[in-house]
Amino acid sequence: IWGQAREELQKIVGTDSFATWIEPLRLTGVDEGTATIACPTRFLSDWVSRHYSDDILKVLDRLNGPVHRVSFETRSQTSRQVAAANSEPKRPAPRAAVDEELTAPLDHRFTFDNFIVGKPNELAHAAARRVAEGGPVTFNPLFLYGGVGLGKTHLMHAIAREIQIRQPEAKVLYLSAEQFMYRFVQALRDRTVMDFKELFRTVSVLMVDDVQFIAGKDSTQEEFFHTFNTLVDQGKQIIISADRAPGEIKDMEDRIKSRLQCGLVVDLHPTDYELRLGILQSKTDSFRVQYPGLQLAPGVLEFLAHRITSNVRVLEGALQRLFAFASLMGREITLDMTQECLADILRANDRKVSIEEIQRKVAEHYNIRLSDMIGPKRVRTVARPRQIAMYLSKQMTSRSLPEIGRRFGGRDHTTIMHGVRKIEELRTADRSLAEDIDLLRRLLEA
Ligand code: ADP
Ligand code: MG
Repeated sequence: IWGQAREELQKIVGTDSFATWIEPLRLTGVDEGTATIACPTRFLSDWVSRHYSDDILKVLDRLNGPVHRVSFETRSQTSRQVAAANSEPKRPAPRAAVDEELTAPLDHRFTFDNFIVGKPNELAHAAARRVAEGGPVTFNPLFLYGGVGLGKTHLMHAIAREIQIRQPEAKVLYLSAEQFMYRFVQALRDRTVMDFKELFRTVSVLMVDDVQFIAGKDSTQEEFFHTFNTLVDQGKQIIISADRAPGEIKDMEDRIKSRLQCGLVVDLHPTDYELRLGILQSKTDSFRVQYPGLQLAPGVLEFLAHRITSNVRVLEGALQRLFAFASLMGREITLDMTQECLADILRANDRKVSIEEIQRKVAEHYNIRLSDMIGPKRVRTVARPRQIAMYLSKQMTSRSLPEIGRRFGGRDHTTIMHGVRKIEELRTADRSLAEDIDLLRRLLEA
């Protein structure tokens, strides 16, 4: 049931929090209404029991039958925190003495080997490799930024792992900015700020993921700034990621922004078709191990690479679902099945076309003025393209007829309906018109 519970929890807490907090947990058993959850570190169990124990309890109770308590265990079994249903927030757990508990768990799938390199991420990848290979500190800090799901966390984990392999004695500290803040706030509360500072200042490599999170959190920013400066002054490597460039992070102090920029700043660009296809091929190879014997029709991966452009996480999720579905149905993965099984994802990824864009493209194509689209002229050379634009607006946007009418110079919805019908009729009779419309549609979808 843990698999099912994880799915539900992911919906409740969101993908990112899920990946950070719930993903590393394992359900080890349910005994007399007490579910036992194993956590890799005490830090994690502490945070999860404080923030997510109610959610976990509810989900397990629903899926498994009566569960009244959730008990969190760290692997070492040294701490055992019990969260009863509706319990008050607990006293702080005894402070972790070992810094291994400070660093967030690394995802074993996020390695350099599994990272597909293409034009959009080659610079970020090269910089990450260089830093991971160590040697004299070259870029400090290394600042990686880019949109959601483009591989920032993947690269961060890959760097951390690589450094640990190459320099086992190095103290690598990887954590999200959210975790940094949590540790800091906890230290303030427990009056152990000195220990906190000490811990951070003895690391050889500090990696902070999603630093935009501490924007607007003044005292955490302040502490981060001091930690950062101390480490840089000692020549320690720092690696930071964010969802945007340093200069564009709002509510971040200028002196921090400028410190963040003083090393190397590289961005991960949105993926292109080739990169998406490469990622799909590599994921397919690993899925084949998981689902042996599954047949994949030619063209399916190309179709997905064309159609799902939002981010790599969505792309992976789509492929995962497709393989699971096909294996359940015991069928080959065909284009038809892909379209059926991923209808929602494909729809969400459809490029949104505006009526204005349609009018512009159609006017351009027929060499008429854009103003004629909304103007009153009734000559065929203008009226026909205008009707084609109405038709495409109806087909390609979710606007209603009255709305479309308004965008066409305040025409009545019956006029729009008439135009749409007219083109539908002509289309079936007139091959060259049909081809024109297909071409326009493709141009607009591109
Ligand atoms: P971010 O931290 O930028 O939001 P992640 O690093 O979490 O994104 O990436 C989201 C998912 O996409 C992860 O499962 C990651 O492994 C995968 N991914 C992203 N970029 C690549 C790539 N170039 N090659 C292989 N997998 C990738
Ligand atoms: Mg991330």
